[in-house]
Amino acid sequence: MSTVRALRPSTVVVGMVTGGALVVAGWWAYRVLQRPPSGPGGGSGAAARLCGLAAGYLGVVQVLLAARIPWFEHTVAMRPARLIHVGCGLSFLAVTAAHAVLAVASNAAAVGTPFASGLIGVVVDLPYVWLAVIGLVLLLVATVSSVPALRRTMSYGWWHLLHLVVYPGIAISFAHQLYGPDLLSSPVRVLWTGLHLAALGTLGWYRILAPVRLTLRHQFTVAAVEAEAPGIVSIIVSGQALDAVGARPGQYFRLRALDWPMWWHSHPFSLSAAPRPDELRFTVKAVGDYSDAMAGLTPGRWLLVSGPYGALTAQARERRPVLLVAGGMGIAPLRALFEDVDDDLAVTLLYRTERADQIVFRTELDDLAGDLDATVHYLTGPAPTGDGGDQDDPLSCHRLTTLVPQLADHDAYVCGPPGMVATTVRSLRAAGLDRHHIHAETSTF
Ligand SMILES: Cc1cc2nc3c(=O)[nH]c(=O)nc-3n(C[C@H](O)[C@H](O)[C@H](O)COP(=O)(O)OP(=O)(O)OC[C@H]3O[C@@H](n4cnc5c(N)ncnc54)[C@H](O)[C@@H]3O)c2cc1C
Repeated sequence: MSTVRALRPSTVVVGMVTGGALVVAGWWAYRVLQRPPSGPGGGSGAAARLCGLAAGYLGVVQVLLAARIPWFEHTVAMRPARLIHVGCGLSFLAVTAAHAVLAVASNAAAVGTPFASGLIGVVVDLPYVWLAVIGLVLLLVATVSSVPALRRTMSYGWWHLLHLVVYPGIAISFAHQLYGPDLLSSPVRVLWTGLHLAALGTLGWYRILAPVRLTLRHQFTVAAVEAEAPGIVSIIVSGQALDAVGARPGQYFRLRALDWPMWWHSHPFSLSAAPRPDELRFTVKAVGDYSDAMAGLTPGRWLLVSGPYGALTAQARERRPVLLVAGGMGIAPLRALFEDVDDDLAVTLLYRTERADQIVFRTELDDLAGDLDATVHYLTGPAPTGDGGDQDDPLSCHRLTTLVPQLADHDAYVCGPPGMVATTVRSLRAAGLDRHHIHAETSTF
């Protein structure tokens, strides 16, 4: 078993953001030294240029982060990946807004007009700035729709669609950048344009062309839909040479069927069994329109598939006893991982549901436990009302240490709803597990 550890997000951030920012700031400083700012608005104009360059570069980083590059998707766990995405996104918005405000202030100061007139002057007089203003509005739409209070009111599909407006926003803002004083020379323009085209090409390849190629090559087809529990079905997907897809237990795919309401967007679903050369299995709980419609798929339907994604795999751990802690549909990836434990490693599965009839795969799990000489505990009962420190919570530190001898020596995988994951991670840390030995993902967004 490999012991490759999920790439530290700090490494990614330092490499992509700091490195690029240094180059951008260095170029700006060189240009400012060449022709120091002067006159009213000179200082804010220079600051606007720096923010503009930083915004352009962060836009490229953001596009690359969203491109679903396999190297990134397979090595960075979902939570740090989200933190990086949100951090870069907010920085992108902040420097873009600062650039806009400073540019307008500079223009207003230079001609001695109020800020509002400066804004009109910038939009009317400077080439393609009106497109950049629309781009900024689209960026704001995507950001505001991700504010948790608003996000909760939307289905994943609508939120995702609103989020996608960032790409046209970045694209239409590009033209005005080329007229900035720091990008006027031909080689720099070519480099800047090349950088943006490379990011766009990467996005197009991994988000559109690679999934189309994957789908055409493997011809994913619904082979069967099997009821697992009330509101939960398994979708068995057949196809050609599925071993060549390169999926590992614990990973997920984005699935899209050509039926309503699924044709216009894809949703993520984890493998719920180790992938086989002729079959992939997904297990879906109906929580909204999309997941509900998945249960109605009939055998023979084609699926558009992208992936595999995710770093919740055996590669994340070292050769230590394995603890799997699943909550609700978090059992899907952990059921697949359960199959992927070396025979000589001790493995314990804790499976938390509120009611016994919500348990899926019981027979499979018991059979696997028999084969692996593993231990399975089904922890049923209502969700605790306390903050997780409650001794009665089956996932409290006290209960975990009782259930799992030498808990601190394990590599733990945790997957489930956010509250359950947070409680479990807290308990594991309190029990002495190092954070590098805790691999946690949530099964919601
Ligand atoms: C990486 C990843 C892997 C996933 N794997 C699986 C899987 O193997 N099986 C599976 O059933 N789901 C899985 N999910 C969740 C699944 O993608 C969503 O449940 C589904 O996309 C919801 O779409 P919808 O339109 O049906 O519901 P929406 O209308 O988008 O959501 C309806 C409501 O349900 C809530 N909700 C969303 N997901 C869940 C959930 N899992 N449990 C409880 N409430 C939820 C939403 O917050 C919303 O309030 C996974 C999610 C991620 C991020």
